[in-house]
Amino acid sequence: MSRSSRYFINNLKDFAPDQSIKIPIDAIKNQCLKYMQQISDQQTLSTKDCDGSLYVGLAGVSYAFYHLSQNPEFVKDRQDLLSKSWHYLQPALSHAEKGRNRRDSAFLLGSGGVYATAAAVMKALGREKECNEYVEKYAAMADGCMEGDYLGCGSDEILVGRAGYLAGILFLQRVLGKQVLPSQKIHMLCETIVDSGTKYSRQHHSNSPLMYAYHGTEYFGAAHGTSGIFQMLLCFPYYLDSNPTADKRLKESVDYLLSTQTKSGNFPSSADEVERPRKESSELVHWCHGAPGIVYLMAKAYQRWKEDKYLQSCLQCGEVTWTKGLLCKGPGICHGVAGSGYVFLLLHRLTGDALHLHRAIEFAKFMETEEFIRGARTPDMPLSLYEGIAGTMCFVADLLRPEQAHFPFSDVF
Ligand SMILES: [Zn+2]
Repeated sequence: MSRSSRYFINNLKDFAPDQSIKIPIDAIKNQCLKYMQQISDQQTLSTKDCDGSLYVGLAGVSYAFYHLSQNPEFVKDRQDLLSKSWHYLQPALSHAEKGRNRRDSAFLLGSGGVYATAAAVMKALGREKECNEYVEKYAAMADGCMEGDYLGCGSDEILVGRAGYLAGILFLQRVLGKQVLPSQKIHMLCETIVDSGTKYSRQHHSNSPLMYAYHGTEYFGAAHGTSGIFQMLLCFPYYLDSNPTADKRLKESVDYLLSTQTKSGNFPSSADEVERPRKESSELVHWCHGAPGIVYLMAKAYQRWKEDKYLQSCLQCGEVTWTKGLLCKGPGICHGVAGSGYVFLLLHRLTGDALHLHRAIEFAKFMETEEFIRGARTPDMPLSLYEGIAGTMCFVADLLRPEQAHFPFSDVF
């Protein structure tokens, strides 16, 4: 077996220019069914299983079944998938109702994400009244995210902070096809994010006009870092259109981040590493830290500012992910092979180039090989959405309809 300390050496066959692409529908469906069976056999419903919300808790497993229920390729199984989704969501909801502190309003790691998922599942089940109740619960959490550093450790990032709250708003708007929070409140949330980043940047003499720290580290990656925060601001263009100063600051900040992209196409995981880069062997090429997460920001930047440099950055993210993305950490979307695979699905939607679809299919197939099954580590939460096979199932199912594929809660189109 050939591998570096962090990834399997990629010996997969790359796309040949004259090659035609055929999506292996039956194999992909079987792979999905295998994951479903594994989750059904092994997932327990204890209070402990609720911890971690969408990220590694039951709410995330529920989301994965909901996501499949929305895929036309699984139309015959739709009711069954939705009832499984509801089955895993109920304990998560009871757990969320007990939430007491502010961190509980978090989207990916708290009650917020549970309510947003519940609204989507209720909508799909045709239970409009309950859907509206969960939307209201989610919307009511906005006020708690308005003031300064309400978490006391950095309150702007995706997993627990304001950007995550906005990701939930975007998700609900798409699912319901309507506004779920008054524009004025969205505007205030965006403004708070920009003010907070400006203040931090000035205090710390940062090279980026907007900078943020989480627990004292200026992360760049999608999970706790600036790229996830910038991406969310870009998802609310009417805020940026009405505030040219914020738009300018954001663009300069994205350009600063772009300037740190390495020759290989990856990014430092934090500002400390710009001056003191990691050794290549310990470099992180994950959704949470590195090119496979920052690519979503660059895709969004390309859509807004239409400059070729952002597209080129995305393509470089794709190259480093192809080389170093067969991660030994497991099959998940946060720091695993499915997270890498989603980069290619994004690039395929962005460029229409079949090369990227081919690469995505190859990564899905790789997870079925002995080399991966025997050689990859088992994540702490092996069935979960972000670390485990619930997320892998979303990625593999998305290969069946690549024109709508998107990393969970990160659809930039
Ligand atoms: Zn991760």
